Amino acid sequence: MIRITQLKLPINHTEEELREKISRTLRLGKLPFVYKISRQSLDARHKNDKKFVYTVDVIPDDEKKVSRKVYNNNIMSIKEKPYHFPDPGSESLEHRPVIIGSGPAGIFCAWYLARAGYRPVILERGEEASIRKETVDQFWKNGVLDPDSNVQFGEGGAGTFSDGKLNTLVKDPFGRNYEVLKRFVEAGAHREIMYQQKPHLGTDVLIGIVETLRHQIEEMGGSVRFRSKVTDLKIKDGALCAVVINGEEILPADICVLAIGHSARDTFQMLLSRGIFMEPKSFAVGLRMEHPQSMINEDLYGEPENEILGSASYKVTHTCGNGRGVYSFCMCPGGYVVNASSEPGMLAVNGMSYQARDGENANSALIVTVTPGDFPDNGPLGGIEFQRDLERKAWAAGNGAVPVQTFADYKDNKTTTVFGNILPNIRGTYAMANVRSILPKDIGDSIEEGILAFGKKLKGFDRDDALLSGVESRTSSPVRIVRNEELLSNIRGIYPCGEGAGYAGGITSAAMDGIKIAETISKKYRNF
Ligand SMILES: Cc1cc2nc3c(=O)[nH]c(=O)nc-3n(C[C@H](O)[C@H](O)[C@H](O)COP(=O)(O)OP(=O)(O)OC[C@H]3O[C@@H](n4cnc5c(N)ncnc54)[C@H](O)[C@@H]3O)c2cc1C
Repeated sequence: MIRITQLKLPINHTEEELREKISRTLRLGKLPFVYKISRQSLDARHKNDKKFVYTVDVIPDDEKKVSRKVYNNNIMSIKEKPYHFPDPGSESLEHRPVIIGSGPAGIFCAWYLARAGYRPVILERGEEASIRKETVDQFWKNGVLDPDSNVQFGEGGAGTFSDGKLNTLVKDPFGRNYEVLKRFVEAGAHREIMYQQKPHLGTDVLIGIVETLRHQIEEMGGSVRFRSKVTDLKIKDGALCAVVINGEEILPADICVLAIGHSARDTFQMLLSRGIFMEPKSFAVGLRMEHPQSMINEDLYGEPENEILGSASYKVTHTCGNGRGVYSFCMCPGGYVVNASSEPGMLAVNGMSYQARDGENANSALIVTVTPGDFPDNGPLGGIEFQRDLERKAWAAGNGAVPVQTFADYKDNKTTTVFGNILPNIRGTYAMANVRSILPKDIGDSIEEGILAFGKKLKGFDRDDALLSGVESRTSSPVRIVRNEELLSNIRGIYPCGEGAGYAGGITSAAMDGIKIAETISKKYRNF
């Protein structure tokens, strides 16, 4: 197989033109070949001449007939390295593996264990995706929060009501990333996610995908139980022997995977009380900012809209005079700010887009890193108290609705009373407020300095009528559940996994960590 990188074509090229370019580049003449796109990225530095940049893998009918002269830094011979799931180990399991949580980490761990014959049981505190969607829509409409089924909790986990961005910075020598994308395509995602630089699913597509993955797990012998919250663990001689569901049912278990996500605060408390080693972890907090998507397209594409490219996305970062870094996070082109709260009297926001990304506004979180030094106490759960404090203030600032402020009023630290040309695109009720008052001073100042700096990179980013809402507090887990080289916690049989345990950040890396745990369990135990 021959890999060609840096193959550039105008964004409106046809498939035939790509084929011709490959043939010319490899001087194949009439030699038949097949090819696969393995990567597509956008080069928009020249606004009037935007290009797609491809990496393609080509299989000519007879590779020996390809002239050696064509090979160079961008044209090389490669061997495909297929992904391999380990064969079952020899230790016996008395009970079916228990997986706590049906987010990306839990689902992918269960999928690979089910396919390998381990008949896993997923326990999920929230509802199945289609019912959960109604519960969330009701919450956004009338503010009635279900603490166990909401934007953070339920089938598919935190990412179900999201933009479903799938890019990750996690290095992947074992091919798990590719496996994750393959599973998503088999479950209904469009094929382009396999090679796009910035693949995304959109919440409208994600709901169907997680339900399909569940059906596949069930067909392979696994089972999924909803409204099944693990409220306690039974531990004997340093080893797990059962989990307790909804405070009453005892389910015997020799192993369980803790794929509980970053917002399972009651469960973290329970784990701590059961002697599970945990430590506080740095994360980031801030606000979500909205701009007209057409303005962002103009800045990045040189035109207010582009049918081929869709809505543009940005990534900005700035180091402040006070040494803190401010950066954009989870940018949602043509998306919505969402009320992503999970505890009464506390308010957290996040972002979401539909697959079309055709909303009026672009939004992203602008966040600042916080460390255990910022937390009210240095215990393992200090970060949770730091989050709760901010979320209570956010709840109060908007009196239970999402608090929103213009950048002009943010700079003056005063309550907004009128919007400018930009109107909020928010899922959930919102109210004009003084959002700056929610944040600790140095974080508030850092965000102002960052926005002014971003205004030099993206024209209009610091316009006075841009909107800020808050608080963005669930950017990653505030704790790490310690695991050893066997990926086990200090209690035998318990595998901390995914974002909540502090080993992933985002849908794809959480799913990859789920596969990693499944491999580890398979290497050790015999299947059923
Ligand atoms: C609104 C929003 C938008 C996002 N957008 C993106 C994006 O575009 N791209 C991206 O990569 N990431 C995004 N993220 C982050 C992403 O969703 C998470 O990184 C990812 O879902 C983490 O996966 P996980 O499986 O580790 O945990 P989660 O997805 O959080 O899943 C944990 C699951 O465990 C369940 N659970 C918790 N406690 C218990 C218990 N005691 N008993 C039973 N079940 C329990 C929860 O109900 C939940 O379903 C977004 C997050 C949110 C909230």
